[in-house]
Amino acid sequence: MQRTPFIAGNWKMNTSLTEAADLADALKQRIGAAAEVDLAVCPPFVYIPAVVGALAGSRIEIGAQNMFCEDNGAFTGEISADMLKDIGVRYVILGHSERRHVIGESDELINRKIVKALSAGLDVIFCVGELLEEREAERTAEVVARQVKIGLEGIPKDCAEGMSLAERLTIAYEPVWAIGTGKTATPDQAQEMHAMIRNLLAETYDDSVAADIRIQYGGSVKPSNAADLLNQPDVDGALVGGASLKPDDFAAIVEAGMS
Ligand code: PEP
Repeated sequence: MQRTPFIAGNWKMNTSLTEAADLADALKQRIGAAAEVDLAVCPPFVYIPAVVGALAGSRIEIGAQNMFCEDNGAFTGEISADMLKDIGVRYVILGHSERRHVIGESDELINRKIVKALSAGLDVIFCVGELLEEREAERTAEVVARQVKIGLEGIPKDCAEGMSLAERLTIAYEPVWAIGTGKTATPDQAQEMHAMIRNLLAETYDDSVAADIRIQYGGSVKPSNAADLLNQPDVDGALVGGASLKPDDFAAIVEAGMS
């Protein structure tokens, strides 16, 4: 299977309703018909319906930034996979570093969320990445391997509805020290970690699953560094935060992914 580049924008807790709809409109105009690349934007929950409407008829899919691992019930403030499906969401970001390190989500909770999302029919963008002090202590490989192993525990390679895991799961390698900081991993650092994750997938599943799963890079991706990162053999796309709020910048990153 050829790995089609996949560029996703994480809007985080940004935009107003009007800004979200305007941003979606601007993206639809610039990249709504972009071929040879898969695209998604992940607005705040409450603006998803407006963005679904604004992007109708385009190639840009909708993702959510989080969800809970139960179907329904007494979980005040949480959102279920079925609720997201109901309003037109295709992807969900799980394990983002801000969920891990600001909110305190564990590897085990993230695993339960991934299991639930896949079984409910949502495609998952599963984020992993090390803190600066972990990189400085040369623990990057160990930390990321633990996150990948626990996050995917119990998930078979043919995960649901006759589809392979590679069709439903994207891994985003996002070194925490590079997220929102303006610091980016060098193309070599990104490639080294992406290759390590792919080897781990081969050990956990098999060579064909490892060859097919897309691994995005995330961490201060911008127009000036996108091409160098995306040209690495194991970098199959980008998860973009800050630059995804600027239509020209996001469009330039998408174009880098297409070339
Ligand atoms: C992110 O939100 O996942 C991210 C990588 O943010 P930024 O591009 O702003 O570093």
